Amino acid sequence: MPPQPPHFHIAIAGSGFGGLGMAIRLKQEGLRDFVIFERAHDVGGVWRDNSYPGCACDVQSHLYSFSFAPNPAWSRAFSPQGEIHAYLRDCADRFGIRPHVRFQHAVREARWDDTRQRWHIETSEGPYTADVFISAVGGLSEPAVPEVPGLARFQGKVMHSARWDHGYALSGRRVAVIGTGASAVQFVPAIQPQVDRLLLFQRTPPWVMPRKDRPISEGLRRLYQRMPGAQRLTRGLIYALREVLALGFMNPWILKLAQRRALRHLKQAIPDPALRAKLTPNYTLGCKRVLVSDDYLPTLAKQNVDVITHGIREVREHSLVTADGTEHPVDAIIFGTGFHVTDMPIAHHIHGRGGRSLVEVWGGTMKAHLGTSVSGFPNLFLVLGPNTGLGHTSVILMIESQLEHVLGALRYLEGRGLAAVEPTPEAQAEFIQHVDTRMADTVWMQGGCVSWYLDATGRNSTLWPGFTFTYRRRVERFEPSEYVAIFPHGHRLAALPAPSRNLAHA
Ligand code: NAP
Repeated sequence: MPPQPPHFHIAIAGSGFGGLGMAIRLKQEGLRDFVIFERAHDVGGVWRDNSYPGCACDVQSHLYSFSFAPNPAWSRAFSPQGEIHAYLRDCADRFGIRPHVRFQHAVREARWDDTRQRWHIETSEGPYTADVFISAVGGLSEPAVPEVPGLARFQGKVMHSARWDHGYALSGRRVAVIGTGASAVQFVPAIQPQVDRLLLFQRTPPWVMPRKDRPISEGLRRLYQRMPGAQRLTRGLIYALREVLALGFMNPWILKLAQRRALRHLKQAIPDPALRAKLTPNYTLGCKRVLVSDDYLPTLAKQNVDVITHGIREVREHSLVTADGTEHPVDAIIFGTGFHVTDMPIAHHIHGRGGRSLVEVWGGTMKAHLGTSVSGFPNLFLVLGPNTGLGHTSVILMIESQLEHVLGALRYLEGRGLAAVEPTPEAQAEFIQHVDTRMADTVWMQGGCVSWYLDATGRNSTLWPGFTFTYRRRVERFEPSEYVAIFPHGHRLAALPAPSRNLAHA
């Protein structure tokens, strides 16, 4: 008989905020039989991978951190990437997570074995099995590079913002930046002073609001150190203020007020009316992610920056050619073109009952019960799964709600001696219906833009259309009546009564 692969009760893919948070909560609950598969050599997820100049979080650090692991030492309101990465590394050490991590283990495939009722996980370093599989790879892990004709023959440097080559010196170069999203608005001001010319290829102008970043004083940091309650209060205030913003996404007319503020910011930063016209969005603020930056727009007014709004027709050995026929010589191309989000790459590799993959079951639009579990996929949990993204505040709040749900499921499995659970198709459909209904009137659907929030079918399968506290209330408690119970001998029981809470009022 071939040797059995190593077995764990729980296998987690990814060691970013989702995977580490899950591991910490498991340990806090006394669960130790788990492994984390991490494809890289270090923990940190997107905060390890995105090291581009100027990278920082656009949500205040006091909120963009675990509630169960406060960091009184944040240096700025919006801390830079290095500090967030260091925070995650520190969490891994502080909570003793590192021994659980198998570094440089990329998950190639996870397949539910209905006979043995466990997940068979193929990693780059060999097979494993687990009773429960938790995918915490997030939605922003696979860089998207558009297929620009001729790109392969370009002789200069090509990189994506999430795979920055710090060994490549930009100084004195002519640099093309493609994309004007949340990443580009951070690295464009950081690289502009070094480069000879910066050619910014903009397809759609983003709405930009001032960020108002500031250092957190020594005194305040000491206070947070000595009085954790003061830091909790700060976090609570930031939380409450940001939660109010959710009202805007649900009532687009409120956003018109914010638009006025953004237009004032644009006018102050860009005196030239022709350039200002190029940078003025023609859709409602909020339809795409609202960008926050104090220095992006002023940077675009600098003499070594050109904002180019013609589409890119082709790339040649040393240049880009735009739709108007102009040839733009460049030494380097930097893609700030985002990630594969609505086509979640890992979904091709997760196979549930009957061998069908998530991609096959989803048929072009991601759907999960509470954004966390999927009918037909026993003991699978997705941290930051479909419809758990946010436009207004910290996704760590969503992650923490999901972690409690998973812990509830694990307790239920253990308490009832079950082999597995999976959501009933009815509960999942009811949840999706609720999300879609709430989504219909939001700015994401009505704002007059095309965004990565929408998938190929036109559904918004990425964002949560509401407050984070409604999500938390709905998700943190595991509700057995919404799940099929699978017993060790294979018997399935979906007998429990219909969901006890009316989703329409969640
Ligand atoms: P993104 O928001 O998806 O922006 C991609 C940009 O590339 C857009 O301007 C897009 O234009 C453009 N683009 C895409 N394909 C193109 C093509 N074929 N030709 C020309 N332009 C093209 O990507 P991102 O800036 O990397 O940000 C992704 C997400 O990461 C953000 O939305 C946010 O959730 C997260 N993020 C967060 C932070 C933070 O501080 N927390 C920082 C950075 C990123 P269109 O608008 O026309 O599509």
